[in-house]
Amino acid sequence: MTDCLFCKIVAGDIPADIVYRDDIMTVFRDINPRARVHLLAIPNHHVESLDELTAEDASWVGHITRMLPIVARESGLTQGFRTVVNTGVGGGQEVYHLHYHILGDVRDADWRG
Ligand code: 5GP
Ligand code: ZN
Repeated sequence: MTDCLFCKIVAGDIPADIVYRDDIMTVFRDINPRARVHLLAIPNHHVESLDELTAEDASWVGHITRMLPIVARESGLTQGFRTVVNTGVGGGQEVYHLHYHILGDVRDADWRG
């Protein structure tokens, strides 16, 4: 999707601090971190939100979910992390490209991601 901020990050058209990348997903630092470590994990292809998922998406969704703790650990979060996914207006979603917030050391952080 040409007009999507996170698609532009995947394409390299907008700079981001990328900490992990493979054929399916990209993980980069949130520009406005709400915790000492605040990452966003996204599929490389455009999907608006969890609302759009179908059974056919199970494979790449599973891959992203499985990689979250691995990338978190590699980013220094050795004592666990919080995952937040905001969906739609009611969920406070601001960027409509599915993203998993990964928040570390959240004791002092805003809970919503
Ligand atoms: P949402 O509210 O949609 O779940 O979260 C969107 C997140 O994207 C916010 O935490 C916001 O700080 C982050 N964000 C918005 N624009 C940019 C950007 O251009 N670069 C990066 N790295 N993060 C962004
Ligand atoms: Zn997109």
